[in-house]
Amino acid sequence: MIDLHSHILPGIDDGAQSLSESIEMARKAVEQGIHKIVATPHHLNNTYENPKQSILAKVKELNEALLEEKIELEVVPGQEVRIHGEMLEGYAAGEILPVNHTPYILVEFPSNHVPRYTEKLFYDLQMKGLIPVIVHPERNREVIERPELLYQLVKKGALTQITAASICGDFGKKIRNFSLQLIEANQTHFIASDAHNIRNRSFKMREAFGVIGQKYGNELVYYFEENAALVIGGKHVYKEDPERIKRKKLFNLF
Ligand code: FE
Repeated sequence: MIDLHSHILPGIDDGAQSLSESIEMARKAVEQGIHKIVATPHHLNNTYENPKQSILAKVKELNEALLEEKIELEVVPGQEVRIHGEMLEGYAAGEILPVNHTPYILVEFPSNHVPRYTEKLFYDLQMKGLIPVIVHPERNREVIERPELLYQLVKKGALTQITAASICGDFGKKIRNFSLQLIEANQTHFIASDAHNIRNRSFKMREAFGVIGQKYGNELVYYFEENAALVIGGKHVYKEDPERIKRKKLFNLF
């Protein structure tokens, strides 16, 4: 299994704080059945800078440590970019690091809203051959209140990634139900852990795929697993036309 979103690199954001914590997380990931994990430290969220080159160096170090510990997990480089108006300039300046040097960039919205310039920015990114992957839209307050916003972005080519723990109900029933509705409406393409530690923000991938398999069948589990592999390889992912979330269903959220 591949995990596209994690804060496993030590001491550079609010994820693992030390190398020993990274190694603990790596052991946990392997227990979950993960063999490849994308390290996606925060970029421009709070005080975290984490430009491309420093992430590449840290990934190399962690892979060496895992080899020494005989842990069968490969770390590949990535970044969780807080959305900002100068993303294209940041990419051109070599500060932004897409997943494993592919065209796929993980983009995070502020937790309460979706900036007005998002649609234009995503258009510009796509014109440059880059593909925005919106991370955890199910935890964004404005997306929950106005799901039409996400529908429009997905319709225009953005991809989305839901957090495994959201599907397990760790962020509450409302977020769990909304996550399932996004899946049902073909508005999400990946499930990833966004693991920060092994205590309160752990992997939950196996558990989330358990829920998905039980509710929708294993075909959908394979779909998500396959899509993660396609992203890492820089290939086109599978996607269906998104549908709007039905009003009646939305109402059930509250
Ligand atoms: Fe994250």
